Amino acid sequence: MIGAFSLVVFAGLVFLLLGNDTDKRYFHNRGAVFGTYYSVTYEGERDLHDSIRRCMHEVDEALSMFNAGSVVAQLNSGADPWLPPVFEQVFAEAQQVSELTGGAFDITVAPLVNAWGFGFKNKQQLTDAAIDSLRSLVDYRNLRIANHHLLKAKSGIMIDASAIAKGFACDHVAALLRRHGAENLLVDIGGEVVARGLNSSGEPWSIGITKPIDDTTGTVQELQEVIRSSGVCMASSGNYRNFYFEDGVRRSHTIDPRTGMPVSHSLLSATVVASSCMRADALATACMVLGTDSALALVSRLPDTGCYLIFASPSSSDTLSVATSPGWSRLIGSH
Ligand code: ADP
Ligand code: MG
Repeated sequence: MIGAFSLVVFAGLVFLLLGNDTDKRYFHNRGAVFGTYYSVTYEGERDLHDSIRRCMHEVDEALSMFNAGSVVAQLNSGADPWLPPVFEQVFAEAQQVSELTGGAFDITVAPLVNAWGFGFKNKQQLTDAAIDSLRSLVDYRNLRIANHHLLKAKSGIMIDASAIAKGFACDHVAALLRRHGAENLLVDIGGEVVARGLNSSGEPWSIGITKPIDDTTGTVQELQEVIRSSGVCMASSGNYRNFYFEDGVRRSHTIDPRTGMPVSHSLLSATVVASSCMRADALATACMVLGTDSALALVSRLPDTGCYLIFASPSSSDTLSVATSPGWSRLIGSH
C-alpha cells in the first residue's frame, strides 16, 4: 500500500518536474519607449509583456524630461513633488557616479543640454556669457534629498536623467523578470543591455557593439564587434546619432559640465560594463565627456568595471581604433 502510494507520489513529482520543464519557453516582447526601441527575451512560463510595459512606464513617470507629468518635469518647472523610490534610487546612483567621475557625469547639466538644443526646449542663441551663467546652475552638489523631497541649493537648477534612465530601466525590467523566476534573459533598451544565462539555443547571448557611423536616423546598425556573454550589464554612449552642425562645427549631445560646451574630441563611442546597467549607462556618458585617455584611466581604477572605446585614429579620422580597459575580456565573459 505504502509502496503504491510512494509510486503515485513519485509519478506525481516526475509529472510536476517534466510539466514545469515543458511549460517553460522563451518569450520575446518588443516595442517603443523613451524615444527608442526595447527588445526583451526571457525564459518563463507566461508572457510578461504587460508587466514589462508597466515597469518601463514607472521609470518614464519618474525620470523623463519629455513627459510633462513626470517627477523630473515637475521638478524642472519649479514644483516640489514627493519623490518615488525609483527616483531616489537613480538619484543616489547619479550622485555617486558624479563623485567617481569628478563631475563629468552630472544630472544638473539640464540647462546646458536645453540651451544647446538637446533637451525639452528649443536651442538658444548662445554667447560665452550665457554659457557661463548657465554653468553656475550646474553642480550635482547643489542637490540633496530630505524626507522624500528634493532640496535645491539654488533656484533654476534642473535635472536631466536621460544618461542614466535607460540603463536603470534595463535593471528594473531584469529584476521584474527574475522575480518571476526567469534565469535566462536579455533586456535591451535602445542598446543598453542586461544579459543573464543562455539564449533559446542554450548558448550565451550575442550582443553587438555598434560601429560609430554618423546616423541621426538611428537605423544604421553596422557592428564593430559582437560579444558573447551569459552575464553582463552593458551600456554605450556615442556622438554619432544625436548631433547637428552649426557653422561647420559638430555639436553633439554630450555636454562637458566643466566647460558648458558639447564635447569635441576623437572618442566616438564608449561601451561600459559594470555591476548594474544604470552605472554602466552613466559611466559611458562620463567616458564620452572625459575622452579616451582619461576614460581609460578612470575605468581601470573602478572595481568590476570595463570599457571598450572606439576613437578616430590620430593619423586618419576615417580609421577607427579600439582601446579596452585591462579588465574588459574578463568582465564580458560568463559570471
Ligand atoms: P544615449 O541617450 O544616446 O544612450 P547617453 O546615455 O550618453 O546617450 O545620454 C545622453 C544624454 O544625457 C544627452 O542627450 C543629455 O540629455 C544628457 N547629458 C549630456 N551630457 C551629460 C553629462 N555630462 N552628464 C549627464 N547627462 C548628460
Ligand atoms: Mg548614458
